[in-house]
Amino acid sequence: MALWGRPWPLAWSGLGCCDMKRISILGATGSIGQSTLDILRHDRDSFDVCALTGARNIHQLAQDAIEFGASYAITSVDDLYQPLKELLAGTGVTVMAGRAALVEAGDLPVDLCVSAIVGAAGLEPGYRALARGADLALANKESMVAAGQLMKQTARKHGGQLLPVDSEHSAIFQALQGEARQSVERVIITASGGAFRDWSLAQLQSATPAQAQTHPNWDMGQRITIDSASMFNKALEVIEAKELFDLSPGQIEVVIHPQSLIHSIVGFCDAGMMAHIGPHDMRHAIAYAMYYPNRPALPLARLDLVKIGRLDFMEPDRAKYPALDLADQVMDQGGLMGAAFNAAKETALDAFIAGQIGFLTMSQVVKRVLDRLSIDTAAKSDPLDLENILAMDALARTVAGKEIDKI
Ligand code: NDP
Repeated sequence: MALWGRPWPLAWSGLGCCDMKRISILGATGSIGQSTLDILRHDRDSFDVCALTGARNIHQLAQDAIEFGASYAITSVDDLYQPLKELLAGTGVTVMAGRAALVEAGDLPVDLCVSAIVGAAGLEPGYRALARGADLALANKESMVAAGQLMKQTARKHGGQLLPVDSEHSAIFQALQGEARQSVERVIITASGGAFRDWSLAQLQSATPAQAQTHPNWDMGQRITIDSASMFNKALEVIEAKELFDLSPGQIEVVIHPQSLIHSIVGFCDAGMMAHIGPHDMRHAIAYAMYYPNRPALPLARLDLVKIGRLDFMEPDRAKYPALDLADQVMDQGGLMGAAFNAAKETALDAFIAGQIGFLTMSQVVKRVLDRLSIDTAAKSDPLDLENILAMDALARTVAGKEIDKI
């Protein structure tokens, strides 16, 4: 049912009030960024676009900056300044380029910043937006894994809200509305099982990047799709959930749910459970964060439960998905280990995509980095500030690179 192309309801008032929100989208050219713009495309009255950022896809960036009347278009790639400037000549859009410009994008005065850059590259600009007091619609799970405590403290200090965009975390967030936190017993995070759900451990030995980058249910960026196949994505999400909702590791369970229709479940102390169910469309979770606490009428496809017929659940095979045990190790150790975990995972993923290491070797590399760094840093109790987090990120990338070279 192609509902999205239809006009919005006449009485539409997305924000439920007359104020217009000023918004920036970090990672506007990616999968989440484009879905965010799609929502804006159908509700021009509720948002005023301040900045859009991208990296290499400057044609998309320029086109969107013009369409949405952005004040700034920012590419993180220095060398793309001139070509982007030419694409936007005469439009009045201010062009900036380079890593420093990207980080400064977080300083721009907005009400809401959508954090949708992939990887640790998204941490600093998102952090800066929180430090400026903006609300942060957070797709970039890597920020919470590497710097969860810092992000929460910064939001608290400057009055911004952390609004989850990841569908699992949006589901938990929605199920928690109006509930006392002490009544939460556990959360159950669902996982599709990714491209290799039905593959054996032996078959995974020879899995290729091309095979790993097809997802059974969701259409997402390349890196998160491969992370879904290895369940590193789920490992990141477990840590993200612990940080976002102040859970203990023992309160978080992962179940494979091949249909990916229940996005997550909260179990309460009275044995009741609240499951969030919805279509495979990130625009639902993105819009929930953008309009929070309002719930806009969205023209998304509605689920037909009778047609769906059944929902299945099964336990993940931890031998096939060692990333889940690595997440437990990270949560047990705490401190800077989240930053080390994410950086090692990103380095191993790059090496897998480049054909340097095999699919299962990714988790071996990450494990070696965690073991090595937990010994090296065990005695240190560095404060969890941005400087130490970025230093740990850099160190873990170096150690992971050396481990990859040994293979
Ligand atoms: P994509 O790969 O589709 O998009 C990534 C975006 O980040 C693009 O705008 C890209 O620019 C930009 N980018 C890439 N590298 C850099 C860099 N070094 N510096 C600055 N910008 C950079 O990713 P997704 O949209 O799939 O994912 C974005 C985030 O959202 C990830 O953290 C992911 O885990 C999370 N997420 C995604 C979901 C999804 O459905 N896609 C679901 C839940 C969470 P360009 O394209 O111009 O090169």
